[in-house]
Amino acid sequence: MARYIGPVCRLCRREGMKLFLKGERCYTEKCAIEKRNFVPGQHGKSRKSKLAGYGVQLREKQKVKRIYGVLEDQFRRYFEQAERTRGITGETLLQLLERRLDNVAYRLGFATSRPQARQLVRHGHFTVNGRTVDIPSFSVKPGDVVAVRQSSRQVPSIAHALEEVKGRGVPEWLQFDAEAMSAKVGSIPTREQINLPVQEQLIVELYSK
Ligand code: SF4
Repeated sequence: MARYIGPVCRLCRREGMKLFLKGERCYTEKCAIEKRNFVPGQHGKSRKSKLAGYGVQLREKQKVKRIYGVLEDQFRRYFEQAERTRGITGETLLQLLERRLDNVAYRLGFATSRPQARQLVRHGHFTVNGRTVDIPSFSVKPGDVVAVRQSSRQVPSIAHALEEVKGRGVPEWLQFDAEAMSAKVGSIPTREQINLPVQEQLIVELYSK
């Protein structure tokens, strides 16, 4: 599946907020949002934001896509799936994104950022219910057990990430066993547990035009 490979700090500057795409750097003063919190480009500094209606909805969609590292076509498919599912479409959309295996690996602290988690999944470092899964978009469901593969437990970047993000905590919908480097998916995440500063309703409005 295609992914964005351009400069990522630019994406945060475009959205005017930290999207936490670079792991540890995001928590230091080297973060581009700390140093240059204005829209990238020649006139970025002088550009005043006058967003309304469509512009606001578009930015909200871009923000969510960038947080989860999903491109337009795939994001649209998530939305269509959310629409077909019973419940609140915006909330279901976030739940689908949150259940991606790369996001779960990130939430469990096996990676310092979602892009890093995606790469670790791609390299086959994780199992779901005992079988290696190397598809970042793999959707976990309640009852699944996600674990670091036995032979990958000494991978330096995973050990480093676990140490680095210790204080971040693991969301309640994932029953984490640090000793076993695994977690059982206890439930579908609630909106509160997803804990993202986004207004998903704006995305629903955008796609409903
Ligand atoms: Fe975004 Fe992290 Fe870059 Fe800061 S360091 S701009 S949060 S990707």
